[in-house]
Amino acid sequence: MNVQQRDQYAIFKQKFFDWFLTEEDFTDLPRIIQALITLLQKEFHLLDVTFYVLNPFKHAFEPEVTTDCMIKQRREHASIPFDSHLKEQFDDVMIIDDGSEIKTVQFGVYFPEDSCSLVRFRIHERDMLPTSFIKQMKHDFLKVFARIRKVSEVLSEEKRYEQLHRATTKIHASMNIGDVLEEIVKTLKDVYPAFTCHLFLSHDSTTDRDLPIKLLTFENEDEHMGAMKAYVTGHIQLYDSLVHKRSVIYAPIKGAQGIYGVIEMIAPTVMELPEREIRFISLLANTAGSALENAKLYEQSKRLIADLQLINETIHHLNTNLRFQDALKFMIEKIKTSFDAQEVGFILLQEKERKVLPGSTPFFESKEARIYVDFVFRRIQNARDTLFLGDVKIHSDHTKRFRSLMAVPMMRGMMKGVAIVLHQEAYHFSFDMFKLLQSLIHHSTLAFTNAALREELERMVITDRLTNLYARHYLDERIQRSMEEDGLGTFILIDIDNFKKINDTYGHQVGDEIIIQVANIIKANIRQNDIGARWGGEELAIYLPKVSVHTGLSIANRLVQKVRELTDPPVTISCGVSYWKKNRAHSVKELFNRADEALYTAKRTGKNRVVVQE
Ligand code: GH3
Ligand code: MG
Ligand code: MG
Repeated sequence: MNVQQRDQYAIFKQKFFDWFLTEEDFTDLPRIIQALITLLQKEFHLLDVTFYVLNPFKHAFEPEVTTDCMIKQRREHASIPFDSHLKEQFDDVMIIDDGSEIKTVQFGVYFPEDSCSLVRFRIHERDMLPTSFIKQMKHDFLKVFARIRKVSEVLSEEKRYEQLHRATTKIHASMNIGDVLEEIVKTLKDVYPAFTCHLFLSHDSTTDRDLPIKLLTFENEDEHMGAMKAYVTGHIQLYDSLVHKRSVIYAPIKGAQGIYGVIEMIAPTVMELPEREIRFISLLANTAGSALENAKLYEQSKRLIADLQLINETIHHLNTNLRFQDALKFMIEKIKTSFDAQEVGFILLQEKERKVLPGSTPFFESKEARIYVDFVFRRIQNARDTLFLGDVKIHSDHTKRFRSLMAVPMMRGMMKGVAIVLHQEAYHFSFDMFKLLQSLIHHSTLAFTNAALREELERMVITDRLTNLYARHYLDERIQRSMEEDGLGTFILIDIDNFKKINDTYGHQVGDEIIIQVANIIKANIRQNDIGARWGGEELAIYLPKVSVHTGLSIANRLVQKVRELTDPPVTISCGVSYWKKNRAHSVKELFNRADEALYTAKRTGKNRVVVQE
C-alpha cells in the first residue's frame, strides 16, 4: 500500500465511522451491509459490490445485498456454487481475470459459529487495488461484521422479547377461546411475516372463527406426522420438506394441564433456524398454551355456573307453590331449551301401567313413541341405570327417527318413572349435557314427589272419605267465592227419606252403601264446575254456580227420579232448593236456611220430591 492508498483507506474508514455514528438501528443487518458496500463502491470506484451468504442446503452462496441492479433482479440465478476449489481459496483474496479490462475480486468472510459469507466486486483495471490493500479490507470487514452481528443479535433478541411480552399481555388479557386463538395467529403473522402459519387443534378446541385452523387427527398421518409428534411428545419438531423445498416447525401449544394443539410454521425456503429463534417460538407456543388453558378453564367454569343456575332455578320453581303439572311443564320446557332437545317425555309407571305425564311433548302420545319407551324400560331396571346413547340405531333395529337418546330414571318411594330426551341427529347431546340432565332429574325427583304428595293431601282435606264428594267446609268456601265473583247460583239440599229404617232393616253397612250410591248418582248428573258435597250424615248437597233456579229445579227433579230408579235397596230422596242473585241481599247462611226450610216442606208434604224456597 502506498501513501496515497493508505490515505484513501483512512478516508474510507473515517466515512464509515461517520455513518456508524449517525446510524441508530443496528438490528437490520442487511441494511448495515448495504450501507457499507455502497460506501465501498463509491470510495474505491468499484463497478458493483455484492454480499453473498452461504445456503448450506443448496451448497451455494446466494446474494443477500448488492449494488448491482442486474443481480437484484435475477437474484435466484446469481448464486455461486460452493465447490471444493472455492473452499480452498476461501480465506484468500481471489482475483478472477478473464483477460478483459474488468476484473472480478472476491474474498470470504467466515464466522466460526455459523454461516460464511462472500464479498465479490468488479473493478476496472485502471482502478485496481493492490492485494495487500484488499487483504487489509477483508481483515477489517471480518471484525466489523462480527461486531455488528453481535450487536444486531442482541438488539433483535431484545426486540423479539418485547414482541413476546406484548403478545403475552394481549393473549392473556382475553378469556375467550376464539379471541386467544385469533391473538396467537396475529402474533405469529406479526413476528414471522414470511412464514405460513397454521394451528393444529384437537376437536374440542375449534372455533367458528375464520382462522387458519387444521384438525389434529390420526388420519393423513404422513402429512400430519410432525404435528402429531409434537402433540404427543410435547417437544418442538423441525422438518425439512425437500420435496416442497421448505422447512417446517411444529411447536406444541402446551399448558400446565395438557397440550391443546400444535403451531405449524412453514418457512419460505429451506432454512436453518438459529437456536434462539426456536427458543422464541417455543416460548410463544407455551404462552399460547397457558392462555388457551386459562380461557378453557374460564369457559368451563362459566358453563358449570350456568348448569348450577339451571338446576337451582328449576328446583326453586318446583319448590315454590307450583302445581305438580305446572312444575313438570316448566321442567320439560327447561330441558328442551337447555339441551336443544326435540322430544322430552316423563313416563310414570303405575301398577305396571305406563302413564305419559302431561307436559311431555305430544310425540309421547304417539304409537311411534312406544318403541322408544319400550326400549328404555327394557334397559332401565333400577334407579341407578341410565341411558346415554349417541346412536340408538346401533342398539335397536326398530328405532328409526330419533338417534340421540338420553334417559334418566326418577324413583323415590312410591314414584317410579323415567325422563326420556330425544333428538333426530346422531351424537347430538354431549356427555356434559347428560351429566347435567342426571343431576337435574336427581335433584328434582324429591321436589316432584313432594308436589304430588302435597296435591294428594290437599285433595284429601277437601274430600269426604265415604262418598268422595267434597267436604262441607270446601262447599262453604266455594259458595262464598261464587257469591263474590258470579251473578247467581242455585243450592240443592238433599236428605234420604226414612233412612233410619234402612239402617234398622239392613244394617249400618248397607246404609253407608246407599249413601255412596246416591253420591255416585249425584256425581254422574252434575258438571265439572258444580260442587257435590256431603253435608253431614245422610244429607248431601249440590251447589250450582252461575245456574238459575229453573235449571237447578230440573236437575233436582232428575236426581229424585234417578235415585228412586237406581238405588238398591231402593230409597228416595227429598230436595230443598234455594238460590241467590246479585243486587239482592244474601249470605251463605241465609241460602242454607232457605234450602233447609224447603227440605222441611218436602218432607212434610210426602217426601220423594223437590221443593223450592221462593
Ligand atoms: P226422614 O225421611 O225424615 O229424613 O227420616 P230419616 O229416617 O231419614 O230421619 P233423619 O234424616 O232425621 O235420620 C238420619 C239417620 O240417618 C240418623 C242416623 O242413624 C242415620 N245416619 C246418619 N249418618 C249416617 C251414616 O253415615 N251412615 C249410616 N249408615 N247411617 C247414617
Ligand atoms: Mg237427615
Ligand atoms: Mg233422612
